[in-house]
Amino acid sequence: MTTLLINSIYRATEGEGIHIGVPQIFVRFQGCHVGCVNCDTKETWDFDPAYTKSIDEVMERIETLSQDIIKRVSITGGDPLHPSHIPSLLNLINELKSRNYFINIEAAGTRIVKEVFDLVDFISYDFKTPSTTVKTSKELLIKFIEDYGFKAQIKAVVSDKKDFEATFDAFYFVKKSGLTIPPWCLTPCFEPGEQFPMNRFQQVVQLNESFGLPFRVIGQQHKWVYGSEARLV
Ligand code: SF4
Repeated sequence: MTTLLINSIYRATEGEGIHIGVPQIFVRFQGCHVGCVNCDTKETWDFDPAYTKSIDEVMERIETLSQDIIKRVSITGGDPLHPSHIPSLLNLINELKSRNYFINIEAAGTRIVKEVFDLVDFISYDFKTPSTTVKTSKELLIKFIEDYGFKAQIKAVVSDKKDFEATFDAFYFVKKSGLTIPPWCLTPCFEPGEQFPMNRFQQVVQLNESFGLPFRVIGQQHKWVYGSEARLV
């Protein structure tokens, strides 16, 4: 029997980046070894077997939330693309596809997982900025865009000017390659416990303007609406 490590399953309209405001069902995997220092879901890091669920339980919860109206699922984490998750993730994706769900996966930008990326409908691929202390290889980014840019967005969490400049540097690297760049979104960092960081948001908007508007600046709507520490929203 397929089992998965699942932190939570809930309905929301967050849909970070270009899917902001689109109602969907989030399936949040438990377990991540990526280690972004400014991660806002550190409770999902531990590969704790207490979070084990059968695929039947997961599908039942999704179908209850769907009511056959919301046919869109976003798979997030944690890191759903950690190698230990892949077999159960593939089973979940195949089950969802057989029931006609549109599937988005949130990818940490640290690996390309062909067998998963080939199956899903959309990939939100992170470019990790310096403030995360994790690195997205620019060569990997090029490879990702070559193979999957037609059904993807790139997303970068930006804390400061250094993050912006590193993101622009990667953008320019891809542009020089001649590839068509998918929508590339900047998410101004909104840390747990903070009030809405208006100054940081404005700084990111202004930097984007001064660099010729290469990016779309899109915040995390659920944090404006419910506060930076709310869960399951
Ligand atoms: S990949 Fe996601 S869950 Fe993992 S540390 Fe980074 S932000 Fe947190």
